[in-house]
Amino acid sequence: MPLTDQQSAEIAALRAQCAETRRPTVPALEHLLYEVMPVLDHGFVRVIDYMGDDGAIVQAARVSYGRGTRRVSEDAGLIRYLMRHRHSTPFEMCEIKYHVKLPIFVARQWIRHRTANVNEYSARYSILDREFYIPAPEHLAAQSATNRQGRGAVLAGAEAEHVLDLLRADAIRSYDHYVDMLNEDDAGKPLDPARQGLARELARMNLTLNTYTQWYWKIDLHNLLHFLSLRADAHAQYEIRAYAEAMLDTVRAWVPVAYQAFLDYRLGAATLSAPMLAAVRRMLTGERVEQAGSGLNKREWAELVGVLGEA
Ligand SMILES: Cc1cc2nc3c(=O)[nH]c(=O)nc-3n(C[C@H](O)[C@H](O)[C@H](O)COP(=O)(O)OP(=O)(O)OC[C@H]3O[C@@H](n4cnc5c(N)ncnc54)[C@H](O)[C@@H]3O)c2cc1C
Repeated sequence: MPLTDQQSAEIAALRAQCAETRRPTVPALEHLLYEVMPVLDHGFVRVIDYMGDDGAIVQAARVSYGRGTRRVSEDAGLIRYLMRHRHSTPFEMCEIKYHVKLPIFVARQWIRHRTANVNEYSARYSILDREFYIPAPEHLAAQSATNRQGRGAVLAGAEAEHVLDLLRADAIRSYDHYVDMLNEDDAGKPLDPARQGLARELARMNLTLNTYTQWYWKIDLHNLLHFLSLRADAHAQYEIRAYAEAMLDTVRAWVPVAYQAFLDYRLGAATLSAPMLAAVRRMLTGERVEQAGSGLNKREWAELVGVLGEA
């Protein structure tokens, strides 16, 4: 994920400046601010700005005049209580803004989360970079035989080589045609002065979905945790999960108490339906419960076994 010299210099300039403020700041997140956290082969996540900290959650929950914090253990207990009981609005008092560079097919999944503010790089106005996501060999997997939305074993040998060659060749060919239709070189000069060149908003339509796009994405902590609960989960596609995992690191730095509560009560937790709970209660009395007679269908039973097996 190489940055241009100018991009690196802009980030360094931002990181060199400091502003005096009365607002609370979080040293661990200040340390990460503006830094590029690489994701996939050319992507990244950067924290651009944030508002609030663990104390802001407590402050809002207590509707305080001052900081609202008491003893560290009391504040942590309150945050954990709020998370446990889905009292969510105090978490909405914290906000964070990211700059994300991601393949278009990942962006399509990501944009389904409607509670963020988004501004995407305009490919009507600017030319997209010649950068495509090509999976690392360990992520080049076959279609799962059991899960229609998942992956199975990793492709190997000649098949893997063939797939990688196709992915690269198709992306390069489409990008070359994009440049051809635009009729512009890297410096913005016409490739062929006799041609007008196609509008950027049209030329982009033949680019492959592994082409990288970029956006600024701002969200409050409650909705960010909802996003992470879905996208850092094992059911999420690896590529979006890689971004969610980098963002989890930023949440840990930013609001460590809320982060731990999130791991304990959401990400690492499981929800049991009423019939599942009834089956577990019978098991706890020592009864041998089978799928037949449990009140659960085969899929639900497999999910229950999966949850109890993990525990
Ligand atoms: C593993 C996985 C597989 C998926 N597969 C598919 C698929 O095959 N096809 C597909 O189309 N999508 C798929 N999705 C996308 C999924 O259906 C959701 O659209 C996406 O996860 C966003 O979730 P959300 O609506 O809860 O999030 P957000 O949009 O962030 O919303 C957060 C919460 O705000 C509330 N909310 C936001 N907007 C509204 C609204 N307009 N009305 C009511 N409540 C609202 C809801 O409570 C919502 O849960 C998949 C997602 C995952 C994680």
